[in-house]
This record gives sequence, C-alpha cells and structure tokens, in this order.
Amino acid sequence: MSFKDKPPISLMKTDSISHSKAESSISPFASAKPAIPGRQPIALISDHGDPAAEIGKEEAGGQNVYVRQVGEALAKLGWQVDMFTRKVNSEDPTIVQHSPHCRTIRLKAGPEKFIPRDELFDYMPAFVEAFEKFQLKEGTNYPLIHTNYWMSAWVGLQLKQKSNIQLVHTYHSLGAVKYQAVSHRPTSAEIRLSVEQEILEKAHAVVATSPQEEEVLRSLVSAKGHIEVIPCGTDISNFRVVPKAEARIKLGLDPNEQIVLYVGRFDPRKGIETLVRACAISEARKEGKLRLIIAGGCDEEGADGRERKRIENIVEELELSGITIFPGRLDHNILPLYYAAADVCVVPSHYEPFGLVAIEAMACGTPVVASNVGGLKFTVISEETGLLVSPQDVAGFAAAIDRILIDELWARKLRRLAPVRVSQNFSWGGVAIQLSDLYRRLLASSIMDEQFLPLLLPRQRENVVSSPSRLASVTPANVGLTKVG
Ligand code: UDP
Repeated sequence: MSFKDKPPISLMKTDSISHSKAESSISPFASAKPAIPGRQPIALISDHGDPAAEIGKEEAGGQNVYVRQVGEALAKLGWQVDMFTRKVNSEDPTIVQHSPHCRTIRLKAGPEKFIPRDELFDYMPAFVEAFEKFQLKEGTNYPLIHTNYWMSAWVGLQLKQKSNIQLVHTYHSLGAVKYQAVSHRPTSAEIRLSVEQEILEKAHAVVATSPQEEEVLRSLVSAKGHIEVIPCGTDISNFRVVPKAEARIKLGLDPNEQIVLYVGRFDPRKGIETLVRACAISEARKEGKLRLIIAGGCDEEGADGRERKRIENIVEELELSGITIFPGRLDHNILPLYYAAADVCVVPSHYEPFGLVAIEAMACGTPVVASNVGGLKFTVISEETGLLVSPQDVAGFAAAIDRILIDELWARKLRRLAPVRVSQNFSWGGVAIQLSDLYRRLLASSIMDEQFLPLLLPRQRENVVSSPSRLASVTPANVGLTKVG
C-alpha cells in the first residue's frame, strides 16, 4: 500500500482533528512547541548505535555513521534533529551537540554500561519511559520519529500507540536473513522476527537502503506496508580521490607493494577469513608483492576481540604474518588515505544490507571486490567499479583480487568510474534530500483531515491526494507547528 492510499488526517482546525477509528483513542500528534522557533523537531532513534560514538568497534559501525550523517544533513536542510540512543557509560555526556540544530541525547535505560545486543531488549521499556520523560521535560513532541534497527522499531511502535506520530523505519540488519545462516538462534529471535514484520506493516514508511533489501523484505517479511528505497550515503568531501603515491608517502607505505585492504568490524559474518585465505593463494602473494591491511577496532574482552584473535591465528597459520598489518580502528580523518593507498578494497561479507565501506572506498577511487550479496550488488557495478564474487568463495576472491592487481590499465578505468558512481548516487546530502522529502510528504498527509476531503468535489479531492507539488510546499519549518489543544 502507498501512503497516498491512506485516508489523510486533519488539515483543518487543530482542536477538531479527527482520526481513523484505530487512532481515535490516542492523542493527536501535538507537534506542539518546537525547541527552536521556526524549526520542526524530529527524532531519530538508534537504541544501540550511538551517533556520537567512536566508529569501527564492536557494535559501532554503519548504523552509527548512518544516523549521525543523516541527522547532520537533515539539520542543514532545516529540521531540528534530536538523535536518541542508550547511555552506555556514566562518564559520557548526556547531550552531545554536533551542530546548532543536531544533537545526540543519551537516555538512561538500564545500567550505564555496554550490554550486548542479544540482551538489550529487556531495557527497551525503560527506553520508552526515558524518551517520554525527555519530551515532557523539554516541552517538545516529535511528530515524526525515524527508528533504526528492530529494537528501536519496538520503541517506535509503543510511542505510535500513544500518540499520532509518523513512524519511519530503517532496518540496518534483518533477522529473517541473519537466522537463515545460523544454527543456534538467540532467545530474542522470535520477538525480533515479529517486531520486524509489525514495523513493516504498521510504520508509515520503511526505508530500504537498496532495491535488493526491498525484495528481501517483500519475500521474507511481509507483502504489506509501504517501502521507499533511499540508499545510504557517504561524505564525499572527506572520502575523495587522493593520488595513490601521495597517500602511501603520507602513511609510510611501500610504493611498490600491492595493497589489499579490509575495513570494518571483526565479526565472523564480515568474512575476513575468506579474504585471508584468498590472499594466501593469490598470485600477488606468490610474487612476493602482497601487503594485506585489516583495519578495525575491537575490545580485547569482547566478541570482536575474540574474532580478531581467530583471524590473527589464521594469518599466522597461513604464514602471512610478515605481510599483514592490523592498524586497529581508523578514524574517518585518516581512513580516506588508507582507501587511496590501496590497490583494492575487499568487502567479503556473508551478507550486507548496504555496506558503507564499499562506497567509501569507491569514493576514494579504489576498486572494490565484494560479495555478490544484498546492498553490495547495488553499490558495486561488477566490471565497472570493481568485481562481485560469491560469498565465502576463497578461490573466486583470490582470482578477482589478482585480476585487479595484474591488469593495471583496466584497474585505472575502475579507479576513474568508482568515484563517479558514488558522487552521482550516494552523497549524504542527496540521501538527506530524499529522506526530508519523505518526511514532508508524511507530515503533510498526516495533517489532511479525512473529513476535509469529502467536502471537496471529486476532482479537487484527486488533486489534494495526488499532487506532489501540493505536498512539496510543506517545508520542515511549516509542517505541524500548530499547537494542539
Ligand atoms: N569504520 C571506521 N573505522 C574503522 C572501521 C570501520 O570508521 O576502523 C567505519 C567505516 O568507515 C564505515 C562503518 O564503520 O563507515 C562500517 O559500516 P558498514 O556499513 O560497512 O558495516 P557495518 O558496521 O554496518 O556492518
């Protein structure tokens, strides 16, 4: 169903807002008092992916980057963006102001310490309570909430039951896909699957970050619900082309080596083992020119620390220790130089809903060899910006890496095309414009009175419901600013 098919809610006097039967017992969306006059406040909820956290460690990856970048870009477009996450350290500030109209708010929900994702759901009722308290204290109601990951979806669904918010959701990872590949499901699996279905059917819009994700949602989750495909993005002013030789000098890397790079978290599903085994049998290794860099942070005590140890053992066992570097977590300030210095960046994930690393590398002009799965099928154009290989196919990865390393002329063509693909399709600015447009359309449709439409002639009614330009005239600053009741 398209949200255009939904009966629009009130556009008339705010004290007479009427709602569909299902919504009649809940309060109107009381967008009430914007924290900043003239700016429409919206909330992004990311239960465990703190947008203000250091990226590249366990449980701090693409989701944190997405929420933070989308939040900052939406603020530039005129919204007041408040990003909510769970406080995991008592010493962390409760509020981090990223820019004048964009901040991270850390809510107390359970102990102020890191809790693994599989145990986090128990604290979500406390998260809802803390969110509501915050709204009350600030005197702000968010008419639109964009949730990230299934636990935040549960939070959003609870809030939707209590007030007439517009609810948007991005999955980031999907239980239905994840559990296909694991023999032992965590205890939270059943609830996760049911929340993932409920959010698709009940949210006003679900954002799929690639057409492949949309297909998976339709085939594995539900045929109902409204999906919009809006990709992830990257900061193209930071991730940009730097000459390879210059990057290597800056990083102290040998100009004559053939550098293969991995960037990401240490998680078995990221497929680092496939990459290491592929390097061991590659031609480049036989010729003695190969350098493997495996970048990403970890906590020695955590699951990612254990995965790093496992990978180090495989590296040793395959006698690759002398040519492998583990530089640890790399900040986005330095990461573009690593991408630029590499001959090829490898993304060997078993599954990837989107995969930011692939577009970051391409933005820096580095060809990508990636698993032919999920969002990587959408971002990497095989033979144009890199190569796609079946996941976990060690020989296939070795052959693809060698092709790029051996054929310098062809690799140069890939280097030229890769950044063009990113700048044309995956800038955060472009992504935020599409999200902003979605929010405006949802908020506009939410304030159209279902009683208002029957008063119009059929032709006028048609215009109101279907005219994009009418909805487009609603801006972040003028939507939902009317004080209710
Ligand atoms: N990342 C980083 N430093 C590191 C490793 C990773 O900043 O040392 C960032 C990387 O640049 C990317 C994100 O973490 O923006 C990983 O996102 P991706 O979608 O590739 O994977 P996810 O972590 O979501 O599985």
